[in-house]
Amino acid sequence: MGKNILQRIDDICQSASANIFYDDQGKTNTYQDLKLYSDSLAAWIDQAGSTTKSPILIFGGQEFQMLAAFVASVKSGHPYIPVDAASSVERLDSIFATAAPELVIEVEDLPSGFSLPENTKVLKKTDLESVFHQKTAYSLTHPVKGDDIFYIIFTSGTTGSPKGVQISHNNLLSFADWVTGPFFDLPKRPVTLAQPPFSFDLSVMDWVMTLLMGGTLKAVSKELSENFKALFELLPKLSLQVFVSTPSFADLCLVDPEFKADNFPELKRFLFCGEELTKKTYQKLQARFPEAKIFNTYGPTEATVAVTGVQITPAIEKEYSRLPIGRAKNDTKIFIVDENGDQVDKGKSGEIVISGPSVSKGYLNNPGKTKQAFFDDQIYKVYHTGDLGRFDDKGQLLYEGRKDFQIKLHGYRIELEEVNQGLNQSHYVKQAIAVPRYDADHKVTQLQAWVVAKENDFSKPIELTKAIKKELTEYMMPYMIPTRFIYKDKLPISLNGKVDIKAVIKEVNNV
Ligand code: AMP
Repeated sequence: MGKNILQRIDDICQSASANIFYDDQGKTNTYQDLKLYSDSLAAWIDQAGSTTKSPILIFGGQEFQMLAAFVASVKSGHPYIPVDAASSVERLDSIFATAAPELVIEVEDLPSGFSLPENTKVLKKTDLESVFHQKTAYSLTHPVKGDDIFYIIFTSGTTGSPKGVQISHNNLLSFADWVTGPFFDLPKRPVTLAQPPFSFDLSVMDWVMTLLMGGTLKAVSKELSENFKALFELLPKLSLQVFVSTPSFADLCLVDPEFKADNFPELKRFLFCGEELTKKTYQKLQARFPEAKIFNTYGPTEATVAVTGVQITPAIEKEYSRLPIGRAKNDTKIFIVDENGDQVDKGKSGEIVISGPSVSKGYLNNPGKTKQAFFDDQIYKVYHTGDLGRFDDKGQLLYEGRKDFQIKLHGYRIELEEVNQGLNQSHYVKQAIAVPRYDADHKVTQLQAWVVAKENDFSKPIELTKAIKKELTEYMMPYMIPTRFIYKDKLPISLNGKVDIKAVIKEVNNV
């Protein structure tokens, strides 16, 4: 389709102006609101005088204002960094240290314990509201375009500090054209679930797709996702047509027996990404929504949300012991390579490597990590995913786990090393490691901490655990904090003298 994404957004805002773009439990905003809010804020950003193309950090939850601020930021030529309101002070410090944003937009207030680096401008929540309502006209004279960076999403990092994945306008365009194209056969103006946090790139699948198709997003906030009663009451009222989520969120919805086609008559598409779609989840869903098309898509943040997809049918489910992740989108090539980076023979297992127009140019201000995973091809960047897989004789890509210590827990990407760093910062810990526990479907069900504790005065282990967890909440994202703590006198040591994580993983999983 080509064309600048922002021009397309402006065109849609005009043609669908009175349609509802965002519905947050009955609090609605139209396409016209998106246009007015983003234009006014883009004009304000221009006069705020940040360096050209410098990133803007946008802090908040699942509000419409977040999306209006993202669009405003890129309209004025600046990439945005979405940062979740649940972020710890330590994570914020690390993001600021890496990205050095000159401007912060507060959709929600920054945590009180956080001290802003000097010379950082902040648009406070209350002032943001008045800026949004200024109704300043704006024309797209210098939007983000071509290879300019559109957004930067921070993911878990091995050294304890998150890595900022830079996604360009053209990266996003490649993904957007695929997700709105014929493959997923979506309704014209889709009514779509908006549940994943904006700091997780799966959200791009729901909001960018729905926006470019002139549809309506139905927001489900983090608080609501955690309150099952309220969630189960709300969902059937949303008239959803398209369900974009991790398989874990679908599992949660499936706990409610009323989550079935009778109560969701228009829900005909499920788009999954972010972690393995197990046969169990598919079977349950298929039985409850027999007429729906269920898609498994796969991709890392570094290649813009998803690069492969397949509609899982009962025939496919029967044929495979682990569901396939599909074929690459047309503009993308996937290779399987061995440890030396050489392509393996057809059908053999190895690391999944992605090359195409949606592959990022690398991590923000992190040449070391970028060099380890990103390589140059003739035209596009090539990303080494760290995922293991192989192609079968039908050309389906099969996912076979990770090469390293990265896991997915409830859809969140976590580097065990980052959790280890956090655990070892605790005053009560002499030595500790984080260990995943898997179920029979290769899904992580629990993150455990194996801890050698320092001497302490707690009378029971549960009190010690409470104290450690309390400390961890100060510097770790809540989803990274282990839920079970196991205390040991010592941890197994491998031949190279380091803690033998693999041995503990084996022990926890009885393999
Ligand atoms: P993220 O960058 O958070 O999207 O995480 C990307 C990682 O999630 C991939 O490298 C895979 O390890 C995993 N992943 C994503 N989609 C799938 C899928 N459909 N099946 C299995 N693993 C997946």
